[in-house]
Amino acid sequence: MPQSPLTVAEASSTEKAVTYDANHPYHLNNSDSPGMTLVNSVFDGRGYPGWRRSILLSLSAKKKLGFINGTCKSPDLNSGEYEQWSCVNDMVITWITNALTKDIADSVIHSKTAQELWESLEQRFGRSNGAKLYHLQKEITSLVQGNDDVAKYFTKLKKLWDELDVIHVIVCCSGPCVCEGKAKLTKSLQDQRLIQFLMGLNDIYTQARGNILMMNPLPSMDLAYSLLLQDENQREVYANALNI
Ligand SMILES: [Zn+2]
Repeated sequence: MPQSPLTVAEASSTEKAVTYDANHPYHLNNSDSPGMTLVNSVFDGRGYPGWRRSILLSLSAKKKLGFINGTCKSPDLNSGEYEQWSCVNDMVITWITNALTKDIADSVIHSKTAQELWESLEQRFGRSNGAKLYHLQKEITSLVQGNDDVAKYFTKLKKLWDELDVIHVIVCCSGPCVCEGKAKLTKSLQDQRLIQFLMGLNDIYTQARGNILMMNPLPSMDLAYSLLLQDENQREVYANALNI
């Protein structure tokens, strides 16, 4: 394990840990720092079982497994132990995210606890997502605008796409993509979603939909969405004018 030199700030924060003996999960060594690397390989979506095992061994050696398996839960916010728990929890979060590619790390960085972060990784990479995928795809294909306005319909669809993104990480080259394959896959996925979105729109948007489909290449989702909102607004203005 590389020993990174402690900065002044880190040194003073670890001094608080002195009250916990070396076997206590709250104990941090002088060598423990947020920039530390737990394992040699960065997880890019492939080879989860091997990566997972290395992380578990590393955390076990550091007696920090409790922070991801739920046995070392957050103490009460007012408890004197909370600060140190939170410090170690944050440390474990940075250790794990240091061992993830940026894309994957970004998608889990909002987890409040190391346990939450770990569970999200386990859910995505640890077991077959077939059932979840089936359920999501079924929901997406059956979703239509109905009585919703365009914005509400889009939000519902977006939420389902976001859930799909959690399962699917587009992996191309190992490390940063240098072959443009990832960009092409992303564009093709976006086109597919745009078509899904247009398919569920009410018939009243037939004209606007036709205009969007004529564009070559197909516009981004954002542009298509704003064109449809314009169409919706014009219709409202027209309807109001008729009512006067
Ligand atoms: Zn590539």
